[in-house]
Amino acid sequence: MIEFKEETEKNRYYDPSKGKRISEEILIRKDPLTGKTCRILDKPLPISKGADIEEETKKGGFCPFCNDQVYDVGARDSEVLNDQLLERGEAILLSNISPYADKSLVIRLTEDHHIPLEKFQSIYFTDAFELMLEYLKRVQNLGYTTIMMNYLKPAGSTIVHPHMQLLISHHPLDHQRRNFEACVKYHENYGNNYWEDLIEKEKDSERYIKNVGRSVWKTPFAPGGLEHIRGISLKDLRSLEKEDMKSFSSGIVSTLKYYADQSLNSFNLSISLPPDEDKKKFATVVDIVARSNLDKYYWCDVFALSKLLDESYSNKPPEKIAREAKPFF
Ligand SMILES: [Zn+2]
Repeated sequence: MIEFKEETEKNRYYDPSKGKRISEEILIRKDPLTGKTCRILDKPLPISKGADIEEETKKGGFCPFCNDQVYDVGARDSEVLNDQLLERGEAILLSNISPYADKSLVIRLTEDHHIPLEKFQSIYFTDAFELMLEYLKRVQNLGYTTIMMNYLKPAGSTIVHPHMQLLISHHPLDHQRRNFEACVKYHENYGNNYWEDLIEKEKDSERYIKNVGRSVWKTPFAPGGLEHIRGISLKDLRSLEKEDMKSFSSGIVSTLKYYADQSLNSFNLSISLPPDEDKKKFATVVDIVARSNLDKYYWCDVFALSKLLDESYSNKPPEKIAREAKPFF
């Protein structure tokens, strides 16, 4: 069954400026599904408050997603939409000119070129999800479907303008593959859906945040990055109803408001959709992590530990993150 495994290591060093020895405790936790390890040191990061981002985020020159350009230069999907656009509210579904799979889409979220995290509205995400579902309904073989969002340069985005991505591939992404294989194994061993068991086990824990509609929001035991917050729905996104999409959108917006309160301005988001077969073994999982702040000469939080050695790192225990995020949900 689900086990929360944690070890600690202690580090001591002499700080001459304080004239004393300092002791630090490092938590090493294992993800209860995959066993992937994470290191947690409860210590503030060198993240700038009041970052200088205006030069980067103001509309200067060419932007393919702003209204004055998007209809002329926005690439259109030939695979399914026969070179047409899909639009809903301010959202526009376009083709990705840097594709990662045979179906690779970009969804422009807003008319505004830049939106501070506290100003994101649920409707932006709800409209984007509805466009994605409209697209997915037209695809015969869905394979492995993933939704992503990279917001601002520290999160890997080359374009400031808020946008999401939708990928449909015949091959799972590596993290997805490990997760799906572990879910199948868990189901074989215990006869249950891992995520259903996790929700039951975590509902009274310090990591639980809130039920938003039919989705459950919490922090993961072994975070995958900074300020990691997770939404779980036992329904397959393709069978989600309008209310479910609203609750996902509301959870995302609450998370972003919490990040803004922490003076953070950049984030990554992923939503892994369950594979078509054997839906009862999987869930739709939204993962959101904050990234180091966009600022002039910003510091990047992905260093050798996570980039090459595949070890996650968090500067705050998930229990503390849940406590601090709760008022924003
Ligand atoms: Zn723009």
